[in-house]
Amino acid sequence: MTNQKQVELTLHATGYCTHPEWITMRGGSVRSIRIPAGFARIVHPEHGTILFDTGYAARFFDAASRFPYSIYRRVTPVVHDPSEGAAMLLKRQFNLDAGEVNLIILSHFHADHVAGLCDFPNARFIYLPEAYEAVRGLRGLAAVRAGFLPDLMPEDFGFRSSPVPPSARVPLPEGWPFPDDGYDLLGDGSLIGVDVSGHATGQMGLLLSTAEHEYFLCADAAWSGQAIRENRPPHPLAGLIMPDRRQYLQTFTRLRLLAERFPQLRIIPSHCGEVWRMYIQRNERL
Ligand SMILES: [Zn+2]
Repeated sequence: MTNQKQVELTLHATGYCTHPEWITMRGGSVRSIRIPAGFARIVHPEHGTILFDTGYAARFFDAASRFPYSIYRRVTPVVHDPSEGAAMLLKRQFNLDAGEVNLIILSHFHADHVAGLCDFPNARFIYLPEAYEAVRGLRGLAAVRAGFLPDLMPEDFGFRSSPVPPSARVPLPEGWPFPDDGYDLLGDGSLIGVDVSGHATGQMGLLLSTAEHEYFLCADAAWSGQAIRENRPPHPLAGLIMPDRRQYLQTFTRLRLLAERFPQLRIIPSHCGEVWRMYIQRNERL
């Protein structure tokens, strides 16, 4: 589809939360399913190790310990062992020190994506400006409603931030069913950010190529590959946590079109159980 500069990719999970399946997918069963909290490790030939989100980390439990933040834990019961946090996981699997991570690309600011940020002292943060504007300064119930736990943010977050500038705009590949441009995040065509708002304002997916395949890391624009294939968006109740359900459905429809038009493209939702079984458990290099 494109001649993108290639990177290495591995996918990882940092524990999981549980939800009844019917919330995540229309017509799902009442049984509770495990929803892994994924992040991606990208190795770029010049920029070194880059993360796409961080998943959960031990800090999540402190950040969600006091009311009203504890509501978050009640609504999404989280199972996470400290050894599953991104920093410890990268040390164990790749002997990589957290200080060596140069860049973290944030899809959005929900707690299950940013809980590990404080563990990476040298990383710069890249995200769509609208995503941070939507949560910046939120406290108390307003924060919880936005899926945001303020205590997860590094104190020097602003200082280390590089919001995606309008000048990074590039056309998406021919045939992509998204109306707006993408964003060339590193200026070399290797990582293309795509606005997949709806689940969260300014949510960003990531298009990239490895030596073997093309990937679209679509964050929480869909909960699973199955939901995309079978056209089963989440139950309207899940819309309670979304700022814009209509926009969610629009983005979801575009993902479906994308899967139809580009069957070779591997679309990877952050919380997909199939991804967990197919790639993560096998610790496959992709
Ligand atoms: Zn999420």
